[in-house]
Amino acid sequence: MKGKVVKDKFICPHCHEEFEIKKHVVINVDEDAQLKKDVCNQDLFTYACPHCGTNSNIDYALWYEEPEKKLLVHLIDEEENVDQLIEQMDIDNPYSPFKAFYDNGYAIRLVESHDELVEKIAIFNFGYDDRIIELYKLMVWMRTTMENPNDDTYEVLFMPGEDKQCYIGIIHDHSLENGVLITEDIYNSIKNDYSPYFCDVYEERPVVNKERMLYLLTDINNDDNHNKMN
Ligand SMILES: [Zn+2]
Repeated sequence: MKGKVVKDKFICPHCHEEFEIKKHVVINVDEDAQLKKDVCNQDLFTYACPHCGTNSNIDYALWYEEPEKKLLVHLIDEEENVDQLIEQMDIDNPYSPFKAFYDNGYAIRLVESHDELVEKIAIFNFGYDDRIIELYKLMVWMRTTMENPNDDTYEVLFMPGEDKQCYIGIIHDHSLENGVLITEDIYNSIKNDYSPYFCDVYEERPVVNKERMLYLLTDINNDDNHNKMN
């Protein structure tokens, strides 16, 4: 996809003056490498008011394409019809505008926040499969919540470390509490155990997050129980 910028008006929440903003609704990092940096450090979504200097973080829907990593991520906004989008993105839909991307081996993902977009970019840039990383995160999250049964505020996040290693960060009260090193052994064992099931994840395929993986694990367990009963 070719990059696309649209202009919009924004009213500063601090001084209530209106100013013009540019939204990068389609980003192709092959055309502009700086955009990738601006997405990852969230500068792209931070706008300084020309009247009072207050910074505002503005959410908007966008497409992010990184051809080298064969990655296409759509950051949705709340006005979009997600069911309709998912239908359009269905790999079995011959009229899907994304068919050419699928045919070229792209991973196509839907995300709901800037943080999720940045996380996806980081996962693919490290050459990992986000389905395996999301399962790994889910397992760390389940263990953490079992160890802390009276506290449901734990979150987990993929985190590249400065030592070229990657971690599953355990976030508590918005700060990093611990990091679990992602080892090749565990990564490969999750891959071996679960990737045969990935082809069954046809519903909401572009959504790969904790809920999706929880659903997958539940499905596998139910199947196992069913098989045991027969
Ligand atoms: Zn202002």
